[in-house]
Parts: sequence; structure tokens; C-alpha cells
Amino acid sequence: MIDRQHLQHVVDGKARLTSQEALDLYHHASLHDLGRWSTAMCNRIHGDTYRSYVIDRNVNYTNVCSARCTFCAFRRDVDDHDAYTLGKDELKDKFTELVNLGGTQALMQGGMHPDLPLSFYEDLLQWLKAEFPTIHLHAFSPPEFVEFVAVCELDGFPTTAPGKSHELPAEVWAAKLEVIMDRLQAAGLDTIPGGGGEIFAKPVRDRIGRGKATAQQWLDVMKCAHRHGMNTSATMMFGHIESIADRVDHMQQIRDAQDEAIANNWAGKYTAFISWPFQRENTPMGRLPNWDRDSGLPFPGDDPNHPQYAKVLRMSGATDYLRMQAISRLFLDNVHSIGASWVTMGPHIGQLGLFYGANDMGSVMIEENVVSAAGTTYCLDEALLCRLIRSSGFTPAQRANDYSFLKIHDGEQSPDLMVDDWSKHRVEQLHQHGHEDDETLTQLTITSPDLMS
Ligand code: SF4
Repeated sequence: MIDRQHLQHVVDGKARLTSQEALDLYHHASLHDLGRWSTAMCNRIHGDTYRSYVIDRNVNYTNVCSARCTFCAFRRDVDDHDAYTLGKDELKDKFTELVNLGGTQALMQGGMHPDLPLSFYEDLLQWLKAEFPTIHLHAFSPPEFVEFVAVCELDGFPTTAPGKSHELPAEVWAAKLEVIMDRLQAAGLDTIPGGGGEIFAKPVRDRIGRGKATAQQWLDVMKCAHRHGMNTSATMMFGHIESIADRVDHMQQIRDAQDEAIANNWAGKYTAFISWPFQRENTPMGRLPNWDRDSGLPFPGDDPNHPQYAKVLRMSGATDYLRMQAISRLFLDNVHSIGASWVTMGPHIGQLGLFYGANDMGSVMIEENVVSAAGTTYCLDEALLCRLIRSSGFTPAQRANDYSFLKIHDGEQSPDLMVDDWSKHRVEQLHQHGHEDDETLTQLTITSPDLMS
């Protein structure tokens, strides 16, 4: 069933997992074995001394979106009373706070806005680069690019209706994307985040990502970025209506795309893979009933012809998350970094992720609007993030977007070692971010003795 010698070769970088083997691991390997193998592979790639994090800020510049993803609680129509597009004053405040906190990167994503011209995005990038030259701009996920291709007016190219870029002839679509990528890169775009990956399988995507980039479009945007020398990340959101085979197929397509980037020696690559379970609150899809695991009946998502297909949610908890993350480390042998998702899973499960293949704890959280709209809000500052890493037995290291280390926190001046009263620290953080009365906010309190070291 599971060939342990073969697994050792995978861990050592001398063999690859096939899709079938990844499925076998999901269904038959123990969680402990997955943790052991994925940690060994992580240690081979990253060593066993440091685990990293980045100080960046999520900036959701608009919540207006022409798509209607059924898992999304963030999107608004243009004329909704709470629709917004951030102006420069608000952006300046957010970026200034980021710089003051020692931040190095902004993750800037929005909805697929149907009305903004390309000059809006070019001006935004140029202005941010001029005002905040030290900030790396990690911006515009593939669905946004797909909308730019549909609606932005460019000399010599047609436009089409919002969400309909797939109706443009393929060669026109590709040529227009090239020009847009050129122009945004010239305006200051540094790298592209992997948002909107979800699950690539068409039967799933057709149901959960209405009006959004197709899987092929998502991959084509990233390929275009890699050819332009820009790195990207890749993501997967699971635990909704998809089958386990869909998850593995998703990872296979990313691995294949990375093989192509490497074989062609493109200057850009996928640098990281981050996966997380679907968060249901306030989302249309979240109203579906849960699959009854104890019923003994198969999950309808495993068969697209099942009468209940896409009408029942699998929902993933901590063990499913850790299992998938460990398999992603073993399967994606050509992707440098695996990120733990404490934003959705909570700080302590995120921390456990460091023992299931993850080498990176992602970012401190100054602000987050997308997952929090779906009912999940955790907030960690740099000291707490460093503390989580150190109490796991690693030395925390602040990283750049390319995963090179900027600061290694092995001295007394480390952010976590400067805090002597964590209760007071927590109160100060709550006060600083103005959440004293926000009952939806879950702040981390570390009380377990084994985490106090
Ligand atoms: S997930 Fe993104 S693309 Fe989909 S509706 Fe929400 S904002 Fe729009």
C-alpha cells in the first residue's frame, strides 16, 4: 500500500510522488507518519534551525467584484451601500503604518472591479513605489488580471463584458494579457499572489467560482508572470464540495506548471504553496448542509454524477488541514516554501503546521478583510508570531518576499524576548488596533505552560 522505501526516496529528493500515491497517502497514511515524512522533507529543503515569517499588510483596495463566488462573503456590487474603493489618503495611512511596523511587503488584492481603467492600476503602483520605495508590491491575483483583460480599454484590443474574458479569441486574450503584464510590471508591480486558485477541477470551479477566472486562465496568468521574471505563489482552498482526487489534481497542475517554468529557465517561478480549508460564515455556500461522516455513505463530491453533488459540504477540521499540508510538502517537490495558514486555522494549529511540512508562518496580521468577512478573525503581531515559532523549537527569522532572511532573531533584542508581560502586551495590542469592543476578534492568549518557555 505505502512503500516506505519509496517515501524515503521522495523525502530525500530522489523520487517523486505520483497522483495515485498522494491519494493513497491521504486515505491510508497515519497523521503521525505524514508529519514525520513532511518534516523530514522540510528539513532537507530548509534545515531545522529557522522558520520564517514576513511583515506585510493585506490591502484590499476594493470590494467591488463582478464575480459571484459562492464561498465569498467579501464581494459587493458597485452600488451596494458598503462598496468601497480605497483612495490615496487611506492607502497612505495604511502603508505608513506598515512601514512604521517594520513591514517590507503589501499584499494588495481586490475584487474584479468592472469599471476601473488600466491607468488606475498603473497610477496606483507608480504612486506607491514613489511614496513607499521600500515596500515590495505583491499584487493583483489572476482573477483580477483576467478582469483587466476583459474590461480595460487598450489600443488595438477589444473589450468584453465583465466576467466574460473567456469570450475573447484565445490569441487576443493572450496578447492583451502580455501588454497588461508589461505595463503593470513597468509601473512597479513586483510579484503576483496566488489568490483565486481554489480548486482547478471544472465541475467544482463552475459551481463555486461563478464569473471568475477559469483554471486555464489562472495558470496562463501565472505563466505570463513567470516569463516576465515575476515570482508568484499558488494556493488551494479545500473542504467544500471537491473530491480528494480534485485536490491532488490541483497540486499536480501546479507541479506541472512549475516543471515547465524550470525547464524553460523562466526567471519567475512559484515560490510558495499555501492551502487552507473553506470558511463558511456569511457565505452562500456555507448554507449547504454538512456531509454526515458517520452515515457510512460516500461523500457526494467524490462523484460528479451523484444526485447530491455540490449540495453537501465536506468541511475540513484541523487534522484534514494538517494531512493536506503534509501531502502538499511531499508532492510539490519543486516548490520552495509551504506556508502554514494560521489565519484560518488559528495560531496553535498554524504552529502545529510547522511539524506538517510548513517552513513559513506567513505574515503578521495588521488587517484582513476577506477571511474575516467569512467569520474567521485572528490577529497576531510580530512578537506573538516569533513566540509561536520559538516555542516550537525553531529560531524565528523575518523574511523577504523571495524567502531570503532579513533578520534572524537569535539575540536578546528579538521581538518576543523583549516582552516580559504578555497580558499587558495583549491589552496594548487590542488598544492599538481599536478592537476592545469587537466581539468577533479572537486574540491569541498563550497560557499553556509548554508554550511559555
Ligand atoms: S472570491 Fe474574489 S473573485 Fe470571488 S466573488 Fe469574492 S472577491 Fe470576487
